[in-house]
Amino acid sequence: MGTVPVSEAPALILPDKTRSIARDLRRTLGADKVKDDFPTITAYSVDASIYKVVPKAVVTAETEEDIAATVAYAVSAGVPITPRAAGTNLTGSAVGEGIILDCGRMNRILELNVEERWVRVQPGLNLTEFNKKLEPHGLMFGPDPSSRDMCKLGGMLANNSAGPHTLRYGSVKDNVHALRIHLTTGAWLDAEMLADGDSATDALLAAHPPLAETLTLVRARADLIRSRKPKVSKNSTGYNLFGLVDGLDQGLVDLPKLFVGSEGTLGVISEATLKLVEKPTATATALIHFRHLEEVGQAVFDLLPLTPMALEVLDANTLDLIGRAAHSVPADAAATLLAEFDSPPSTPIAAILDQVKAICRKYRLCQDPTIAVEQEHQEQLWKARNALYPTLYRYDVKKKPINYVDDVVVPADRIAELVSYLSTFFKNQDVNVAIFGHIGNGNAHIVPLLDVSDQHDFEAMVAGYHEIHQTVVTRFGGSICGEHGDGRVRAEFVPKYFGEELYALFKQVKAAFDPRSVLNPGVKISTTPFTEHIDYVRLSKPCATCGKCNSVCPVYDVFQSEDMSSRGWFEIVTAPGYEYLNSKRVVEACVNCKSCRTICPAGVDVSDLILQRRAEHPNKLAGGIFAWQGRPWLFEPFIKLMGRTQGLWDRPLPRKLLELGFAPVLRFLAPTAKLPADMVLPRLAPRLLRERHAELTEEQGHQGPVAYFHGCAANYFMDGVGDAVIAVLRKNGIEPVLPRQQCSGTPIETYGHLERVKTYARFNVASLSRYEKIVTGCASCTLSLKDYPKWLQGEERKKAEAVAGKVKHISEFLAGEGLKVRPTKPCPKTVTYHSSCHLRAAGVSKPPRDLIKRIPGVTFVEMRDADRCAGGAGTFIVKDYDTSQKIFERKRAAIRDSGAQVVATSCPACMIQLENGLRGEVDVRHIAELLREAYE
Ligand SMILES: Cc1cc2nc3c(=O)[nH]c(=O)nc-3n(C[C@H](O)[C@H](O)[C@H](O)COP(=O)(O)OP(=O)(O)OC[C@H]3O[C@@H](n4cnc5c(N)ncnc54)[C@H](O)[C@@H]3O)c2cc1C
Ligand code: SF4
Ligand code: SF4
Repeated sequence: MGTVPVSEAPALILPDKTRSIARDLRRTLGADKVKDDFPTITAYSVDASIYKVVPKAVVTAETEEDIAATVAYAVSAGVPITPRAAGTNLTGSAVGEGIILDCGRMNRILELNVEERWVRVQPGLNLTEFNKKLEPHGLMFGPDPSSRDMCKLGGMLANNSAGPHTLRYGSVKDNVHALRIHLTTGAWLDAEMLADGDSATDALLAAHPPLAETLTLVRARADLIRSRKPKVSKNSTGYNLFGLVDGLDQGLVDLPKLFVGSEGTLGVISEATLKLVEKPTATATALIHFRHLEEVGQAVFDLLPLTPMALEVLDANTLDLIGRAAHSVPADAAATLLAEFDSPPSTPIAAILDQVKAICRKYRLCQDPTIAVEQEHQEQLWKARNALYPTLYRYDVKKKPINYVDDVVVPADRIAELVSYLSTFFKNQDVNVAIFGHIGNGNAHIVPLLDVSDQHDFEAMVAGYHEIHQTVVTRFGGSICGEHGDGRVRAEFVPKYFGEELYALFKQVKAAFDPRSVLNPGVKISTTPFTEHIDYVRLSKPCATCGKCNSVCPVYDVFQSEDMSSRGWFEIVTAPGYEYLNSKRVVEACVNCKSCRTICPAGVDVSDLILQRRAEHPNKLAGGIFAWQGRPWLFEPFIKLMGRTQGLWDRPLPRKLLELGFAPVLRFLAPTAKLPADMVLPRLAPRLLRERHAELTEEQGHQGPVAYFHGCAANYFMDGVGDAVIAVLRKNGIEPVLPRQQCSGTPIETYGHLERVKTYARFNVASLSRYEKIVTGCASCTLSLKDYPKWLQGEERKKAEAVAGKVKHISEFLAGEGLKVRPTKPCPKTVTYHSSCHLRAAGVSKPPRDLIKRIPGVTFVEMRDADRCAGGAGTFIVKDYDTSQKIFERKRAAIRDSGAQVVATSCPACMIQLENGLRGEVDVRHIAELLREAYE
């Protein structure tokens, strides 16, 4: 195929009617894989960059055929196509105005060779998930972006990503054996390293004219390419023609080098064969606080001979911005160094750490280095570093961290000089800046905090963009990009960096592979100014669009698409065109697990935003049920009757009839709602908890300092929780009072009836205020009571705050001062713990585990994914049974793999999901039940 020079490439034809693109694609791919509704195109209009570009349609590819059909359509119709993985890039390379081709569902490991240490994977596999699967084989993938919990291999490959461990293992380009790529010619290219001049190589080149043309160009201009090769240890800008020339110099045609880092502008990756490395058996992390920035560079050189796996730096301003106190950073620290070491077979880790300490003594440190050898402690030290960028979003409501000079590389020995140049530069601009990065590689992330809608800040950004990049190139001999890619942000500077001659060659390569310029136009090879498409509206919002919440969102886990994800929902419900009716399908899909709130480094609560939106359209059926439940004299007799007769109706045939009978009613809850005949229901109580323990109720005049807020489930269900909590408290010398109470509010809020929640909050606060301690047995009640201040104002709010301060889940209560009498009966069982989401959101994660470990005879095993939602989420199991079961699949596998005989939890609602999902395969126990058994 002849090459069309880029300047003469036909203009892209965007069909007039938006709908026609999606309609055309649906005809080929089916309705499920193509969406163009408001929520979908809104969610996909952003990535983690400063840009917004609204696409016309989104395809979620599941097979290579889907990729081929989408590319064929884009080429024939002249519609831009942007491949996408997790959308966490910081450059605007995964947004586009045509079709977004989301490959996130192609997320399988296709082949693993442990002996030869390689693996064949699909592009939608998330890095952390990937490494978890490799762990049992003692292997891992070397490059590790800080976004590892969110990003996917396709994006890492296309960006040539890197991370802290690049110091040891190189960037992605150094860890790829082969790629399978779909080209705009309609052909599939298996790109691997081949011998130059070999007949197989010649045959491949003959089959792929764009490749043959590229190699001809590269051979012809090899001297030019060599002369412009970046001289620093990392580079992800431009096309890696340097890798091709290096290969040719050794008689090799190193094809993966051309495509890694090409940012979806040359083809779509459907598979990759990757090199793996051995996972170190022991590692240690040192946190070193320097009083003088200029000493950091020398310290790095002293540490490098110890072959650290990672060397990361945070400058003084970064430490100020993220909050020194919050991260125990001394006030006089001018820079902090994070260094990670493993132990080579010949040297124990302790010996290496002794050397680290000896080196550190040469420098004026704020204190002795903090050394972590336990995994948990190491993770704690790395946590702040990994979430740095979104954490900066907390700093100011207007000034946001803006990525436009975020990824420069200089020789590692000049990083202190670079930091000092940048500090002066930004001081002169009156701009606050965070500088951090991979110091061992000389790769600095520079993130100024700006309000780009303000004229001064906008001008500072534009001036800084040109001046800093230019200085890095001319004064430091560095590169403008180490790992994040060019995208939309650096494209403008690529010709300035490489010079017009080499840039012309890049354009010829692009034109050879993509003559119609449909593949990710505007990215990498583009002269569009970097200020185009900046999303000023979004930059005024609190969300960093980092995607961290997607990594824990159970709905995203199942659907792997941005419109069904926490980050996407933030974007949708805060978008100017949002209406409940155009987005109902997604607003009603959140399970309200609050995992997004728990993890968000920027302090955003997406779940709360969604609940606010739902409250604009409260669900009428649910409202009727809550009103009924609010009249105990009507509701409780019904529960008791159902409890007494459960043996009669909870059988296959009557349950089938109930399923059919309820179906038309449940439609009013949600189109997906159902009560399947085979769902294991909790046992309803023939006598309510308050009747079984009438002597403890407030109504009967019982008094005492400790209240037990049992909530609805423990009262209405015979799940053993309420009786166990009371028994365990009694064992510890407490006769709890069962105070008058209303539903804590969680389920009511979920269906949008906020006035009722407020009324109940007032009631409960008034009722609970008189107690010294308030114990709960339910994760959701715990969180609800702790959240009460948000509903109330003035004096009522103060009272609510006082109540919130006294609320403790039974596990928290007992793990603290409450456990006066140790249980003695051995429980010779292997127990794992499912950490209920609402309890984690309430900040209670360690006490339940500690408590289980204190039960005699118990062998505690931490299961994989213990902190992930199990999918029950109160009444979500009824509202969308099928999705709730899909969410549970992951939990079931984790419980099985843990080998535990018992899975303990802290929440009656989670117990319903666990009982239903496990069907007796593993015993399910509330933590209070386990303790009670150990007392008997
Ligand atoms: C908090 C935070 C920290 C970060 N830290 C790092 C870091 O330490 N190191 C680092 O390198 N990056 C980092 N990044 C940037 C980003 O996360 C990485 O570059 C990541 O590898 C991108 O992966 P992704 O799955 O999100 O890709 P996306 O953003 O979806 O896509 C990135 C590029 O890949 C292309 N692409 C995706 N799939 C395909 C495919 N199948 N075929 C062809 N092209 C495809 C897209 O078109 C786009 O050009 C960070 C980002 C955030 C938000
Ligand atoms: S809500 Fe928080 S975690 Fe989620 S994308 Fe926004 S900043 Fe990141
Ligand atoms: S509450 Fe749970 S399901 Fe809803 S957005 Fe947050 S993480 Fe996702």
